[in-house]
Amino acid sequence: MALSASIVTFLNSFYSSYQVQKQQLQAETLKSQSAYAAKLASATDLFLQSTQQQLAYSAKIIAKNFDNKAIFNQEAERLKRQTDSFNSTVVVLANGVVKGISPKSLQLAGKKLQSDGALQALSFKEPMISEPYISAANNLIIFISHPLFATDGRYLGYVGGSIYLKHANILHDLLQVHFHKDGSYLYVVDKSRRLLYHPDTSRIGEQVYNNAVIEAVLKYKSGTKQLINSHNVVMLAGYASLKAAPWGIITQRSLEATLEPLDGLMINVLYRTLPIGLATLLFIWLLARLIAHPLRDLAQTANALDNPNAPQRLKIIKSWYFESSELRKAMLKGVGVFQNQIGVLRQEAQTDPLTGLHNRRSLDGFLEQLTTTETSFAVLAIDIDFFKRVNDEYGHDIGDLVLQSLAKIILDVTRSTDFVTRTGGEEFNVISPNATASSAYVLAERLRIQVSETYIDPVGYINVSVGIAGWPLKQLSIDDIFKLADQALYKAKRTGRNRSILDSQYQDAEIKKPD
Ligand code: GH3
Ligand code: MG
Ligand code: MG
Repeated sequence: MALSASIVTFLNSFYSSYQVQKQQLQAETLKSQSAYAAKLASATDLFLQSTQQQLAYSAKIIAKNFDNKAIFNQEAERLKRQTDSFNSTVVVLANGVVKGISPKSLQLAGKKLQSDGALQALSFKEPMISEPYISAANNLIIFISHPLFATDGRYLGYVGGSIYLKHANILHDLLQVHFHKDGSYLYVVDKSRRLLYHPDTSRIGEQVYNNAVIEAVLKYKSGTKQLINSHNVVMLAGYASLKAAPWGIITQRSLEATLEPLDGLMINVLYRTLPIGLATLLFIWLLARLIAHPLRDLAQTANALDNPNAPQRLKIIKSWYFESSELRKAMLKGVGVFQNQIGVLRQEAQTDPLTGLHNRRSLDGFLEQLTTTETSFAVLAIDIDFFKRVNDEYGHDIGDLVLQSLAKIILDVTRSTDFVTRTGGEEFNVISPNATASSAYVLAERLRIQVSETYIDPVGYINVSVGIAGWPLKQLSIDDIFKLADQALYKAKRTGRNRSILDSQYQDAEIKKPD
């Protein structure tokens, strides 16, 4: 969980930083595109104003020296050669006839100009910048003109300069030559949506409709816009409109080119954050393991609390932090109580409550051990003589006391390897492993005599009869042996009580045994 949380956090911060940087880069690019468009617009404005100033100054000189026939060509030549503002210049009389021209190679001297710009200049009689049109010499041009007026106000004609949109000149340098290396470029439109400049020169003169940024630049002074261009490329555009002419300048850069450095940047960030990031993940993983380890061990032990080894297993669990060590302590305590109770219950289930001797259930277990290990044994069946009388004379409680005293005597007389049980009311059994018939008989007699010589208050002296059988007779079952012991006991009762009788088969088996 900790690992995935930190991975998600890492990815999220990486993604959001990418998004933030992307937005910032987009915003910055839009801002710089718009600033660049505005700067170019103001430079173009300045240029157009300066061409108009040049023409105005020339118009003054020509009007003043109108009688000097050489002035027309002189001024046309000066305007053409002094700067690279115009590709050609003309001085035209009020009747439309070309009076001065540069370069002369155009061979228009003495002819009447019929082009749009020329006709407009004649009819408007004021300083103007024409819309682009195809000239007589088949060039796409704009025409800038200034009227000639005599001192008395008479209209004398105009002086004008053509700028060829597709040829070298100052305006062309300003607008057409533009760095494209970062994927940005600019274009210029006039009010009829005609391209005046475009990096693809074949498109110059084309009218472009349904272009959001062109519509915007014709409406507003300046701004920014994100749009999809005619080649389905997302563009970040800045635009600005001119003052001197109804033109708009649009500079734009594709989003892809704008974001390209960001990818490299993010990969760089990834490389730099990766080592620490991976180290952090490793650290989290190790720590999580360290925390989970004692819990897992505790859980596994909890699954097997009845296992006698549970306390030992709990003790070796390294519960190094507070919660796990408290859990371990609680489990150890619980297991202690649990196992104590099991011990008590087991003890109770296997002992006779009156005498504390083994009961029949534990006798079965003991006999099973002996048979599986094929250990021979003798069975002593012990019964108190005339016990009914004790009960009758002293009461049942005293009878119980007698049973307890007898149990003690039997335990005293037998060895620790002998197994003593109270199997019935006043009947007892001693199982003596590895006994022979004679050693069993000796034991029975020692017991019988010990009982008869022990004074039991307030009853006095009691006697017991003992029947003895044994199990080297492997063809017999355990039940058979006990029956034989009972038969021997019955015989002892019949033959006068207070005696020990050895089962005859048991005695015979010992006699027959080869030494
Ligand atoms: P016998 O010599 O033939 O054995 O005579 P007996 O009177 O002992 O006869 P038996 O063994 O058949 O008698 C069993 C008596 O033992 C019957 C019952 O009153 C008594 N008895 C059995 N269990 C208990 C017990 O738990 N407590 C007491 N006080 N008496 C018991
Ligand atoms: Mg009896
Ligand atoms: Mg009896």
